Amino acid sequence: MKKKVLITGAAGFLGSHLCDKFLTKGWQVIGMDNLLTGKIRNIEHLLSRPDFMFYHHDVSTYVHVPGHIDCILHFASPASPVDYLKMPIQTLKAGALGTHNLLGLAKTKKAKILVASTSEVYGDPLVHPQTESYWGNVNPIGPRGVYDEAKRFMESITMAYHNFHGVETRIVRIFNTYGPRMRLDDGRALPTFMKQILNNEDITVYGDGLQTRSFCYVDDLVEGIYRLLLSDYHLPVNIGNPCEVSLLDFAREIINITGSASKIMYMPLPQDDPKQRKPDITLAKKLLDWEPETDRRDGLIKTWQSVQEDFLIPEIAISK
Ligand code: NAD
Ligand code: UDP
Repeated sequence: MKKKVLITGAAGFLGSHLCDKFLTKGWQVIGMDNLLTGKIRNIEHLLSRPDFMFYHHDVSTYVHVPGHIDCILHFASPASPVDYLKMPIQTLKAGALGTHNLLGLAKTKKAKILVASTSEVYGDPLVHPQTESYWGNVNPIGPRGVYDEAKRFMESITMAYHNFHGVETRIVRIFNTYGPRMRLDDGRALPTFMKQILNNEDITVYGDGLQTRSFCYVDDLVEGIYRLLLSDYHLPVNIGNPCEVSLLDFAREIINITGSASKIMYMPLPQDDPKQRKPDITLAKKLLDWEPETDRRDGLIKTWQSVQEDFLIPEIAISK
């Protein structure tokens, strides 16, 4: 009998890659999504498979799935700063009510559950690189607070279900990830830069561009998540690529790889934008024997190829 996994946020960037991964590993996959920020096109290639089923459902409302489930991966949530600024209440609900509903489902089904937390729980970090033991520096009432605090609540309620109800839980703290299937208009740095290049526009770097991020290629992230799910460790684990780069250098790398003539245009830095971010992945290395393998240049080339293909295909109609 195939093992069965429920993946929420399945039509999104990470969720769709996770569906591919679990199907490749021989699992039966149930994808769930309300298409708030995701696209059917991301899972279109899976819809006719007998081992894949799609539920159009909002996880902030009661979640019912018939039959046995072995594992749940909760990835449903707006994830880019632009998305969660536009949808603050849905973001809070997906992280808080959605997580509560899925933990309840995990308890009922005696399933293991992995929740998608984020490096944003560290806020604008005062410890660098960020280790799992750092408690963070988050502004709860700032514009990013809706996402950061929802994810911090997600971690707290997940620990409570583990400690109080004995649910088998996993918490992954995901750092900036990139790759094929990012939405070109989601406002995150990489898709924005690539879209601007496709439109022959200047590239918008916020602030002085000296703020840093550490970008992980999606295949590496998905492998780390798969290993974490199969591990027996219930405390949070950072999964990300520790190779840190300033946004200005990142923009220049993308200009170079794409051969673009676009120039850099400086724009104001958004409020509470973290100044630096880099995961300490000592724990993931030790626990999961995991570390990222994809060099940023190779990952960016693969992403650029897929972005160009996507740009030429019109979005298919979404059936609800
Ligand atoms: P995404 O926007 O591409 O995917 C999120 C998916 O969740 C979308 O398909 C959306 O329609 C769906 N969704 C949103 N609210 C929902 C709801 N209430 N019910 C059902 N479906 C809902 O974003 P992503 O980059 O794939 O992020 C996926 C998860 O990973 C998120 O939880 C995010 O917080 C987390 N994460 C991502 C990153 C990253 O770099 N991509 C970093 C840290 C954490
Ligand atoms: N950024 C930028 N130009 C853009 C979009 C983002 O300079 O058009 C910056 C943003 O201010 C942040 C970094 O790129 O410092 C990463 O932003 P992103 O939205 O990708 O993710 P974050 O790590 O902030 O969640």
